[in-house]
Amino acid sequence: MNAHDTHPLHKPNTRRLITKKGKTYTLPLFLPVYQPKSNLIPIDDLKNKFSSDGLIVNGFFLYKDAEVKAKFASGLTIHEYIGFDGLIMTDSGAFQGLKRPLYLENKKIVAFQDEIKADIVSPLDLISPPGDNYETARKKLASTCKRIREAKGLVKNSILAGVQQGGRFLELRRKSMEELMEIGVDYIAIGSLVPFFNKNHNLTTIIKILKDARAIAGDELPIHVYGAGDPVELPFLAALGADIFDSSSYGHYAVSGWYMTGYGALKKEDQDRLREYNCQCDICRQLPDVMAVFDDAGKLAGHNLFVIMDTLNQIRRALEDNALQNYLNSILKTHEQWFPDSSLNKTWEQGFK
Ligand SMILES: [Zn+2]
Repeated sequence: MNAHDTHPLHKPNTRRLITKKGKTYTLPLFLPVYQPKSNLIPIDDLKNKFSSDGLIVNGFFLYKDAEVKAKFASGLTIHEYIGFDGLIMTDSGAFQGLKRPLYLENKKIVAFQDEIKADIVSPLDLISPPGDNYETARKKLASTCKRIREAKGLVKNSILAGVQQGGRFLELRRKSMEELMEIGVDYIAIGSLVPFFNKNHNLTTIIKILKDARAIAGDELPIHVYGAGDPVELPFLAALGADIFDSSSYGHYAVSGWYMTGYGALKKEDQDRLREYNCQCDICRQLPDVMAVFDDAGKLAGHNLFVIMDTLNQIRRALEDNALQNYLNSILKTHEQWFPDSSLNKTWEQGFK
């Protein structure tokens, strides 16, 4: 057996996600971040036009909204509130907690997410940005694991996400995974990777963290990468054994004028490539000229989400046909032509070894 045989890329992905309600979801899966009161794309469009199987909602914002909280207290479920039958994951406010104190208790926010019957719930983990030193990252990891143990005893209706922390330290990342396995979680979520995602696509640290995580988790557990939402990167993360992604990227890329493609995001100035890409999504197809999409952030967000969803479909097909390597090669080829300064090709080749 050579080293490549143990690489996730060479193992068939047969993982499925089965919720407590008994619904089965095909992986990989993308969960758009959905903000009930201000989403750029309405829920009916997410369901009908984008065929979204799932979404992620900020549980902390719901918990803080007295009016909404009262509705939940009288028995309303998150699926009824959103008007969506698919998979709903909630997060805990951990990200908001990075910027300011939340005066929020882990057990209260976990119990709330479970009471409103989210399919997957998040503990109040402690995010470790790359700037954290070893000792700070170690302490945050220890507190996060303690909170996951506490949460495990509270969750009845939902699947609890076992969140990995450890900052930029691979040894702590491994330790975190080992502890999650010991706790016995059914779902892994990789935390604090967002700062490692950038437009230069240097995947070095992400590759190492994901390879280790999949090796420790074994073949069965679903692995979610919090905050991954650039379609050019998702096939590579899937090749490393990641199954679930969530992001608000489709919206915030649009607000900053970025047009996603499967080969990397483009700006309005990249007219030649925009025309070469010749997007056939429901939005671009109906425009007299593709450039018009830049005049409407809602339309650009729609295009972006279409590209993400299409990418997920292509990953699934490639996994089924055992053709992931060819798919990755085709992305790398165009990406290199379009973005000669990008780190994607180099860091993928190095990391794959
Ligand atoms: Zn389009």
